[in-house]
Amino acid sequence: MTQPSALFWFRRDLRTEDNRGLYEALAKHNQVYCAFILDSSILDPLPRQDRRVDFIMASLQSLQLELRQHGGELLVRHGLPIEEIPRLARDLGVDCVYANKDYEPATILRDRRVSELLEAEGRRLSLYKDHVVFEEDEILTAASRPYTVFTPYKNNWQKKVRHLDLEVADSASMLHKLAQHPATDLPALQDFGFESSDLSSLPIAPGSTGARVLLDDFSDRIEHYKTLRDFPSVKGVSYLSAHLRFGTISIRQLARLAYERQNAGADCWLGELIWRDFYQQFLWHFPNVAKQSFKPEYQNLAYENNEEWFAAWKEGRTGYPIVDAAMRQLLHSGYMHNRLRMIVASFLVKDLLIDWRWGEAWFAEKLLDFDLAANNGGWQWSASTGCDAQPYFRIFNPVSQSEKFDPQGKLIRRYVPELAAFDDKAIHAPWQAKTTPPGFRLGLDYPHPIVDHAVQREKALALFGKPA
Ligand SMILES: Cc1cc2nc3c(=O)[nH]c(=O)nc-3n(C[C@H](O)[C@H](O)[C@H](O)COP(=O)(O)OP(=O)(O)OC[C@H]3O[C@@H](n4cnc5c(N)ncnc54)[C@H](O)[C@@H]3O)c2cc1C
Repeated sequence: MTQPSALFWFRRDLRTEDNRGLYEALAKHNQVYCAFILDSSILDPLPRQDRRVDFIMASLQSLQLELRQHGGELLVRHGLPIEEIPRLARDLGVDCVYANKDYEPATILRDRRVSELLEAEGRRLSLYKDHVVFEEDEILTAASRPYTVFTPYKNNWQKKVRHLDLEVADSASMLHKLAQHPATDLPALQDFGFESSDLSSLPIAPGSTGARVLLDDFSDRIEHYKTLRDFPSVKGVSYLSAHLRFGTISIRQLARLAYERQNAGADCWLGELIWRDFYQQFLWHFPNVAKQSFKPEYQNLAYENNEEWFAAWKEGRTGYPIVDAAMRQLLHSGYMHNRLRMIVASFLVKDLLIDWRWGEAWFAEKLLDFDLAANNGGWQWSASTGCDAQPYFRIFNPVSQSEKFDPQGKLIRRYVPELAAFDDKAIHAPWQAKTTPPGFRLGLDYPHPIVDHAVQREKALALFGKPA
């Protein structure tokens, strides 16, 4: 029996298609209101211009259009969800609020509080799995323990997955049940102190239509993913991470595509989607990793934490071209290719001997696709402090990584134009070049390396080899 009105609370799921929580609300109620809260506790500490906020606002606009096409309306409020959601439920006279689950420690606490406040007024918050294929303790070891090693987790994930797990949550076919509400304009960014959005600074188009364009493009090249995915200057990856972060595309849809294609590229890509699930469940089981090393022996390493080196790393002036190109790509676009994320993370921790949490925080500030679980997982993997991490003695050589993965220096030429005239061999280590391009002055036009990799490597081995 369908019930009267409900409220659907959009969060990291800014789409109307294949949205599990929205589907449940529409299936169980006669009419469904929709809301999004611009959470002041998240927005207030951000710089006044932030690509993520631009991306969200543009995605909300396209969501609003989609809802309106079906007679609905997106109610956007600015404030604390623990106040705004109970208030909206009260004002709209709904007893049931629906949303999709989020597995970050702070969000779990927030949702618990919202649920308590709603319950105190005789209302209910229902949460659904939508952000991942398998959540929480759905995939456990034979001893009913959470997995801390990826490969057996992945094997079990693939053994367990059934058609049902990837089925479309057909919210799109029930949008005629959206509740009507007088039209309200979305607030402007300036209303809460942000500078006007600059959508041209976004590396990808926002909203579900932006996601669809990227997916269509990637579908045509998915079979080459395995061979091309490690080369940052080649279009080999999907570039869908920000859309997965904000839920402008469904993870089930992507996993279905990977299964349908049945080729080596699609298999390899599915593995990356499973890494995403892996880190989400890992953070849910071990929320303390958000603040500390998973491996306790690395909790209090005596990092050198040189502030000047940290500034040079952030600004892309370490004197190591591949590192500088990657860090400038991040500043320029809010995106960084996965191979580069691994190189710069290794460089920060094992060449500059800086605490991985400093790098994690910088990525959290700058990445458009920033996701606590994936970012923390990636950093702790690179720093050898995490679950199933890179062994501490495996230290990337930034020059050989550059020669291998950017052989013609295309990425370097794009982001470090002062080195553009170097030949393909010399561009990876200009300080070793026998001849330099006419007029080029090392130390003036481009910095000398701030550290000597061979020396720092020995220091890192000593530091990580004998943790306190
Ligand atoms: C130090 C470090 C920090 C990272 N921080 C983030 C982050 O904040 N947010 C984020 O989404 N990813 C992060 N990653 C993982 C990975 O680099 C990005 O997901 C990927 O580069 C995004 O590009 P893409 O969408 O083209 O990926 P594709 O190669 O097309 O992969 C498809 C999707 O799989 C998921 N995925 C791929 N690799 C990983 C991975 N190693 N861990 C978890 N999920 C993965 C992403 O959702 C990605 O969009 C980080 C990796 C490292 C090494």
